[in-house]
Parts: sequence; C-alpha cells; structure tokens
Amino acid sequence: MTDLFRVLRYPDPFLRRKARRIETIDDALRAECRRLADTMFAHDGLGLAATQVGWDARIAIVSGTGKPGDEICLVNPELVDAWGSEAREEGCLSFPSVAAVITRRKGVKVRYTGLDGAQHELENDQLLGRCCLHEMDHLEGITFLAKMTPADKLANRRALRNLEDAAGQTSDA
Ligand SMILES: [Zn+2]
Repeated sequence: MTDLFRVLRYPDPFLRRKARRIETIDDALRAECRRLADTMFAHDGLGLAATQVGWDARIAIVSGTGKPGDEICLVNPELVDAWGSEAREEGCLSFPSVAAVITRRKGVKVRYTGLDGAQHELENDQLLGRCCLHEMDHLEGITFLAKMTPADKLANRRALRNLEDAAGQTSDA
C-alpha cells in the first residue's frame, strides 16, 4: 500500500476551502487519487474529498459499499439533477465520534471526469448518491456540521469540543 494521507480533522480551516478545478489528468494525478482511495479504505470510509487531506483539488472518492475495488474517483463532479428527500445518519472521517441525521436529496445525477479523462454520469438514489452529495459539499468547503439540526449539534457538543481542544493542543506541538 502506498503512503497514506493524513486526514484533517475539524476545525482545520482547510476544510472550509473551496477546491480548485482539475485541468489535466495524468499519471501523477492518478497516483494521488490511488493514495486518496487507500486512505479512505484504511479508515473504513465511504467517501473522502481531497480537501480533507489538505489537497486543494476538486476530487473525491466515493464508494457505496466501502469495499476496495468498488470506489469511484470523481474529478470536477457537478450535480446535474436531484430528486426526493431523505433523512439518514451520517459520519465523516474529519469528525471522529460525531454522527448526525442529515436530510439530503435522495436521488442524484452527477457528471464528472473519470481518471480515463472522459466524461461520465452517475445516477444513484442509495448510499452512493448520498456519499456524492456529502463529498461534493466538502469540495465547496461545506461540512455536515452546517447541515445539522440544532438538536444534533447539541447532542454532539462534547465530541465537537474535544476536537476543538485537540486541535488547539497539536498546533503548539
Ligand atoms: Zn465528510
């Protein structure tokens, strides 16, 4: 396995960055995407955006199952259609020990560039579709904290405080 990225945790300011579009897909980029996918699987994630590892790139890995080989690398993803609505519990690798029920569009159609350089479309109204929406938010600098209900923010108050305290300590180290 390649060297893994370090996953940034809330409240790292990089998580609020709007990611830069990718202009060129080459072997160096493909290798970094491989590394991003390996990092996601090492943490049992279903999605990981480049901005979550300090990489300013409009790239996200999504997987509906969390099984290696089942991942899709989305380059410059765009939402072209969405329908329905569903509330479902989510976690985020940048928010360990935090979970909240987030309401999102249920079905999505996403257009993206693949690592083959071609345009692709993905249509899904299951977990994979939700992962796409969660990761595309990350690429806009938006985390699921912004979509939590006040009750969920309150329920996660201690975990969020712990993350804030931990960030304060490591920045001095
Ligand atoms: Zn996330």
